[in-house]
Amino acid sequence: MKEGLEQTLVLIKPDALRNSLTGYVLSLLSEYHTGLVFAGVKIVHVTTMLAAEHYAEHRGKIFYASLIDYITGAIHYPTAPEKQRVVAIIYQGPEAVTKLRAIAGPTNPHQARDQKPGCIRALGTVAPLKNTEGKVVGERMDNLIHASATDEEAQREVKLWFRPSDIPPAMHAYTTRESGDHFYFKNGRLLSTHEQGSVLIAAPGDIVWESDLSALEEIRSSRPSSIPLDSIVAKYLINR
Ligand code: AMP
Repeated sequence: MKEGLEQTLVLIKPDALRNSLTGYVLSLLSEYHTGLVFAGVKIVHVTTMLAAEHYAEHRGKIFYASLIDYITGAIHYPTAPEKQRVVAIIYQGPEAVTKLRAIAGPTNPHQARDQKPGCIRALGTVAPLKNTEGKVVGERMDNLIHASATDEEAQREVKLWFRPSDIPPAMHAYTTRESGDHFYFKNGRLLSTHEQGSVLIAAPGDIVWESDLSALEEIRSSRPSSIPLDSIVAKYLINR
């Protein structure tokens, strides 16, 4: 991270949009109240691919499937796919991660109400998760916003949701590099030349996150990559 450019990723989730809490949440997160500045904002229709990469650490857990349904908007807008979206925001400034976590509050809305009345997640809810026999096997936490947990997570998440070109260059916190090659994506595979139905990820001259470009080069030459291909391409497929 470049000095003085601490960043964090915030997602205003579908339950906040559904309950018309977006304006309220944004007021609490205003530059005036937080001392942080907006570095990037976009409305994102969350694909399963993006959701799966964002919540990769929860894969296999009892609540995983409902978490994916939740963040993709399938729970709060089951019959209105055009409304299935989140507001993704990068906040930048001193202690960005800590400040946003404090305003968001504890993950579980019940605990948020007990421990920190007034925090954003105190306005959330917890829904029971049932198995096919109707037995409660876990819970889904509809907690209105996501805020990166650590600086390391913030870096991973900012690069997962945003391309360098979504952020003013002077606000880039992470290293970028100019691509010298074409990279295309089709059916889970990386291609060097265009094929019918492939999507252009990067072309010569495009500014790409350095870590993504290194990973693309590794994948292209069949070397092990530290970043899964889906994690790189998901942001290039946003809103396509
Ligand atoms: P985290 O990665 O800790 O930010 O958690 C991501 C999201 O997963 C949370 O906002 C919750 O919606 C959900 N979640 C985390 N832990 C649990 C849990 N133990 N039970 C149900 N949902 C959870």
